[in-house]
Amino acid sequence: MEVDFIKFSNLNEFPEIVQGVSTRGFGNMKMLVSDSKVIKNRENFTKALGIDLGSVVVTENVHGNKVAVVTKADAGRGAFNHLESIQGVDALITRDSNVNLMVTVADCLPVVAYDPITRTIGIAHAGWKGILAGVGTALVNEFKAMGSRPDNLVVGIGPGICQKHFIVKNDVLSKFKDIYPKATFIRNKDGYVDLKICLAEQLMKAGVTKNNLEVAAECTVCNNYYFGSYRVEGEHTVYQAVIIGLKEK
Ligand SMILES: [Zn+2]
Repeated sequence: MEVDFIKFSNLNEFPEIVQGVSTRGFGNMKMLVSDSKVIKNRENFTKALGIDLGSVVVTENVHGNKVAVVTKADAGRGAFNHLESIQGVDALITRDSNVNLMVTVADCLPVVAYDPITRTIGIAHAGWKGILAGVGTALVNEFKAMGSRPDNLVVGIGPGICQKHFIVKNDVLSKFKDIYPKATFIRNKDGYVDLKICLAEQLMKAGVTKNNLEVAAECTVCNNYYFGSYRVEGEHTVYQAVIIGLKEK
């Protein structure tokens, strides 16, 4: 199988940044505890990025809005055993080099962010619950707390479920309709939400500029050949890993 991964064009301009979104060829990247097959898959992916799996730190992913500030001392947490991941958070931020931030996704949206002025990096896992909880806003606010101006952030929203494939129940639709009226749709009595529009709006409201925001067109369902989708394949899907890191000066 041909093995490749996706990179954000806007972050490609920065040679100090390590970044990538794995594709199906790398295999499943999510584990509940420890799993030798997933570790092998993660090792192959990090090797392709030119980093060691031992430098990676992973979020627990609880569909909330908490951000943890991590340092080099956290390197390896959650990389080999999910019970050691950063608990209770969906987002990470660091100013340290050689600690590479990672989330796993399959339909949920990954967010990566870089402030080239303060050399700070961040990552978030944003599903519909996390978006409603404001995880994108929380990430930008943490950058601000660490001295960043939001208009300096270079941000990418990665592959995730598109509105055509994200059918929601009425209660979820109405929650989104209140905050993101332009991102909700009704077709044949079914409700749909465009999570990418919601998250982009949320990030821009927090101060990210349109010019600095790249939104991946890929959908995990439309492009299921390349990406795992929880909606299509259930919990045994092939989860993507999304990584951002800062190389040593
Ligand atoms: Zn789709």
